[in-house]
Amino acid sequence: MKSYDLVIAGGGMVGASLALSLSETDLKIAVIDQQSLTAPAFSPDSGYAPRVSALTEASSRLFQKLGAWELMTAQRTMPYQHMYVWDSEGTGDIEFDAKSAGFKTLGHIVENNVIRNALLQKLAKTDIDCYPGQSTIDYQLGEPHQVQLDDEKIEARLLVATDGAESRLRKLSSIPSSQKDYLHHAVVTTVETEQYHQDTAWQVFLDTGPLAFLPMPSRDGKHYCSIVWSLIPDRADEILALDDEAFCQAIERAFESRLGSVISADPRFRFPLKQRHARQYHRNKVVLAGDAAHTIHPLAGQGVNLGLQDVEVLSEEITRAVERGDDFSGSHILNRYERRRMGSNLLMMKSMEGLQNLFAADDIGIRWLRNTGLKVTNSLPLAKDVLIKHAMGM
Ligand SMILES: Cc1cc2nc3c(=O)[nH]c(=O)nc-3n(C[C@H](O)[C@H](O)[C@H](O)COP(=O)(O)OP(=O)(O)OC[C@H]3O[C@@H](n4cnc5c(N)ncnc54)[C@H](O)[C@@H]3O)c2cc1C
Repeated sequence: MKSYDLVIAGGGMVGASLALSLSETDLKIAVIDQQSLTAPAFSPDSGYAPRVSALTEASSRLFQKLGAWELMTAQRTMPYQHMYVWDSEGTGDIEFDAKSAGFKTLGHIVENNVIRNALLQKLAKTDIDCYPGQSTIDYQLGEPHQVQLDDEKIEARLLVATDGAESRLRKLSSIPSSQKDYLHHAVVTTVETEQYHQDTAWQVFLDTGPLAFLPMPSRDGKHYCSIVWSLIPDRADEILALDDEAFCQAIERAFESRLGSVISADPRFRFPLKQRHARQYHRNKVVLAGDAAHTIHPLAGQGVNLGLQDVEVLSEEITRAVERGDDFSGSHILNRYERRRMGSNLLMMKSMEGLQNLFAADDIGIRWLRNTGLKVTNSLPLAKDVLIKHAMGM
């Protein structure tokens, strides 16, 4: 049986980043994923992937540190300088501008498969062992744990669960978690718009939920936006049943034709949205990071950014312990990781919940309050500065 110091179960954006962050230590590491761990092929002529992430400045800095950022920018990334948010039910709006906040960009929109492609290319150049096409089925508690994969058993002193929202490892290790259905489904796709997006991430709050138009690079003189449209499930059913032409009309109407007409749309996909949060981030030398520990509404595009902050802190704590000859899997190390991450993950989660409730409220008083709030905040440069730095993960 092969024996490892650290086994990372789940080689998605968070798991692969953690593996790379720890690749310079003396730890013997393995990454397992039920899917492939080979960098997916990318061609600049290919259409846009339906799943994208709005990466904060903090996340792109982490990728720079890991040497993966240049590989992403060489493929396809879209920096954006402005953000514009408004309430369809009123006159309130707010805009953020990178330059006035003292930054070159507010962030980058990057297709998830571009992120994963770059991380997996880097991972292939390390001496980390990869187990593609292998699920973590079970593990036997011990020192070390015995981890049962589809085809073999391996040993791990510390098991890291980065196996996503439905984390099998979180359930196997009986870490309790709370869950709340947002009663929203996200419909995602890419659309071609008549006008250029002005390097702006747009978001309108409709009475059925928020709709985001995220800027994508133009191709052959044509302009594109990636869409995340959060809808109550019945409305999502109706939207998904529309043909291309009717869908383009519906989304153009919802977006108030801010970028002229919506010319065409790629196939649509649906993701039910749930808030989840683990009550502990570790137990018996199993530690959670990324969506395995927390999921939030995508309305502020923070999910994977929080996961990448988990990566920074967990790898920092483990590396420091290794350097001073301490037990990197000890509960004092993992407690420190939990203490440093749980508060800010919860704060972001509660802020998203608050925003979602505020914009879902139909009460005339609340509508007045949120529109006034948007207008007042928009006129306060210092308050906007704090908000934008928080959203950028700075
Ligand atoms: C519509 C939508 C839009 C979003 N937009 C943004 C955004 O703009 N910005 C942002 O920051 N976040 C966004 N998010 C959130 C973001 O997508 C997630 O936070 C992110 O994908 C989590 O990454 P992860 O690596 O933790 O988990 P995952 O991406 O779920 O990866 C988990 C990995 O584990 C593997 N796995 C699962 N189970 C097992 C098992 N038993 N054994 C072995 N391997 C296993 C899977 O194959 C997968 O590779 C969005 C989410 C949604 C739904």
